[in-house]
Amino acid sequence: MSLKLTTVISDLSIMIHQTQVGIIGAGPAGLTLALMLQRQGIDCIILENRSRNYVESRVRAGLLEQNTVDLWRELGVSERMDKEGLEHHGVYLSFNGVRKRVAFKELTGGRCITIYGQQEAVKDLIQANLERHIPILFEAEATHLAGLETETPTIFFKQNGEEHRIDCAFVAACDGYHGIGRKHLPKDSYQEFRIEYPFSWLGILANVAPSSDELIYAYHERGFALHSLRSETVSRLYIQVDNEDKVENWTDEQIWDELAIRLGTEGWTLNRGPIFEKSITPMRSFMIDNMQHGRLFLAGDAAHIVPPTGGKGLNLAVADVRFLATALIQWFEKQEDILLESYSQDCLRRIWRAQDFSNFMTYLFHKQAAHGSFENLLQKSKFDYIGLSKAQETTIAENYVGLKTI
Ligand SMILES: Cc1cc2nc3c(=O)[nH]c(=O)nc-3n(C[C@H](O)[C@H](O)[C@H](O)COP(=O)(O)OP(=O)(O)OC[C@H]3O[C@@H](n4cnc5c(N)ncnc54)[C@H](O)[C@@H]3O)c2cc1C
Repeated sequence: MSLKLTTVISDLSIMIHQTQVGIIGAGPAGLTLALMLQRQGIDCIILENRSRNYVESRVRAGLLEQNTVDLWRELGVSERMDKEGLEHHGVYLSFNGVRKRVAFKELTGGRCITIYGQQEAVKDLIQANLERHIPILFEAEATHLAGLETETPTIFFKQNGEEHRIDCAFVAACDGYHGIGRKHLPKDSYQEFRIEYPFSWLGILANVAPSSDELIYAYHERGFALHSLRSETVSRLYIQVDNEDKVENWTDEQIWDELAIRLGTEGWTLNRGPIFEKSITPMRSFMIDNMQHGRLFLAGDAAHIVPPTGGKGLNLAVADVRFLATALIQWFEKQEDILLESYSQDCLRRIWRAQDFSNFMTYLFHKQAAHGSFENLLQKSKFDYIGLSKAQETTIAENYVGLKTI
């Protein structure tokens, strides 16, 4: 069965819509999936429970792997990213003031990362979806799913106090960690893995030119710090804090002082400027090892969360939908379900790699054990090994920019 029409039929109590793929969530996963399907003539409707303004100003990730950039270029949504995004060809790693550089281009055959705020990417993706006549229904909350084991699953949703339903051939749950998609997988169809780290990140955005041309990850005996950026005039910086800590406990001056100490190295100074955003993010690793049931497929944060240390969350979401779009296109064009059948397994190889790398970076740079303890000296030994071994540097570089295929 292939529903093609995107029509709205009204009966007395519920508005009925029809499409081929019903997508829940207008984040990077849902918006990219819709563009990939539309390119092949497959219709979809995107539901988003927040307003357009809210999703376009939600500050989150900012580090794009080479594969993400390549896909968005291929989809013709990269004009602003190519102009405003900043290509980075290396990263600085620091341990108690000793700083080393890992050079991506040399170690990975020319691959690199691009710094471009997630909210900017989401703006570009929304605009492209609307220009290509893909319906995005904002402030439309998916409430439950039905018929997932049939050929005509249904998404029920509410908008403006009215009840609606979408009849479709497939449901793509790109609805983030708190979405409803995962709740519709049978409990016995997956294993769940979870680590809650005993620390969080206090992150700031500041109107000040970055103090470094590339990111700096720093272990310090007072805790982790990260120097990142969003543009040539906006810096993004983080410090490790306790899970119970609160933004109100920190004045702007205290944050800058702490960053200067933790990131400090000889001959380097930290630029300070007005802070316009402060927030605390807990650190968590989470995943399930099955992302599908019948005609329901999960992608992105709906199925996995990585601590932000590896910059992988957004990139994994895009990698999932590349598999999902390819599998759905195979089904609609050839009525073959080989790639749909292997969807979870195809995604999981990359997800496990990203989980491992994110976990590695988290343990390498955060303060966990007392300074000078056995665990802490092992941590230092791992750091020293980066300068001693090209193999270790290559491992970090190829995971950081993201493996081309996996
Ligand atoms: C505070 C924060 C900071 C982060 N920082 C980084 C970082 O520095 N680096 C990094 O790589 N990653 C970071 N991430 C992770 C990264 O932002 C996510 O991995 C990425 O957004 C995943 O994209 P997604 O499309 O899967 O999910 P999302 O972007 O979460 O999109 C899901 C969408 O679904 C919508 N939705 C949910 N439920 C429903 C429903 N019932 N009906 C309709 N719509 C629904 C949501 O409103 C949302 O817009 C951060 C995440 C958070 C929360």
